[in-house]
Amino acid sequence: MQNWELIIIGAGAAGLAAGIYGARSGLKTLIIDEKMAGGTTVDAPVVENYPGFPQIGGGELAERMALHCKKAGVTIHEIESVTSLDLAGERKIVRTSRTAYGATALIIATGSHYREIGVKGEKEFRGRGVSYCGVCDGPLFKGKRVLVIGGGNSAATTTLYLSGIAAEVIVTHRRSTFRAEEALVKDIASKSNVQVFWNTEVHEIKGDKLVTTVVLFDNKAAETKEISVDAIFVQIGEAPNSHVAREAGLEVNENGYIKTDLFQRTNIAGVFSAGDVTNHPVKQIGTAVGQGITAALEAYEYIRRPYYRR
Ligand code: NAP
Repeated sequence: MQNWELIIIGAGAAGLAAGIYGARSGLKTLIIDEKMAGGTTVDAPVVENYPGFPQIGGGELAERMALHCKKAGVTIHEIESVTSLDLAGERKIVRTSRTAYGATALIIATGSHYREIGVKGEKEFRGRGVSYCGVCDGPLFKGKRVLVIGGGNSAATTTLYLSGIAAEVIVTHRRSTFRAEEALVKDIASKSNVQVFWNTEVHEIKGDKLVTTVVLFDNKAAETKEISVDAIFVQIGEAPNSHVAREAGLEVNENGYIKTDLFQRTNIAGVFSAGDVTNHPVKQIGTAVGQGITAALEAYEYIRRPYYRR
């Protein structure tokens, strides 16, 4: 079994920031991710609130972070899934789709996944007009009519991105106001090819080989109508990727987010957690980075100076 001092599960903003600090502290550090490095930052069409970068594509920011991490000396294993954790002993065991590793300390930074709306046709047309990522799939719908579902920052940034590609963008939100940042809401109002359907729920997605129409329900007027669209971008928030951690005995809150203290410690000694998978109330790239840094520095104290803060 390969042995490491620090294993970080998840190569998103939190995991990569933790990696940089782990390696720079001299810890033999491995990051494992079931996908490519970058996490959900990659999916952000544009990031305008990460200090030092007034405007940068999520993909570029994530790539810079991963490169920085590798330069610091971290080994990153991509496309390798963690299947189970054994956290009972002093040595933490990480079993993956390839092999098993031992580590003195772990940081769980597995992030979150896109939530589904759960209507008829959503699963059936996933990848055939139903998408959860504007940056990934938006360019496929150049000059078309697309629909975005949601009223938060994800829906707003995706709408703005798509307004530069599609001929027409319709946003459906189940309430009468957005919860997205004011600046984004203003930008949306200034786009001539964006139309917002307030108090509107998507009840069904229909199509043939690809999506063709969507059934909308106006929850104020109690009216149903069907409109034609070429694609639907579901942008209604996220849920934590905490399944494996939960099975290994990590405490989570009522929504499945891993509970940590201010030092990013979990209920199990030597296991830390950072980023969107935790119960931290703010889910931003900047906060994920901060949590990752704290987790790595605390992991360092745990590994090298175990008398400290125990
Ligand atoms: P969010 O803020 O939780 O918003 C989710 C939106 O989807 C809400 O408007 C919600 O409606 C709606 N919704 C939830 N379930 C729904 C359902 N079943 N059917 C229809 N609508 C539904 O999620 P988010 O926009 O993904 O943002 C998540 C976090 O990431 C936030 O903290 C956000 O600030 C951050 N983020 C930041 C940026 C940025 O700074 N550039 C970009 C993206 C995300 P209600 O309003 O009715 O609840």
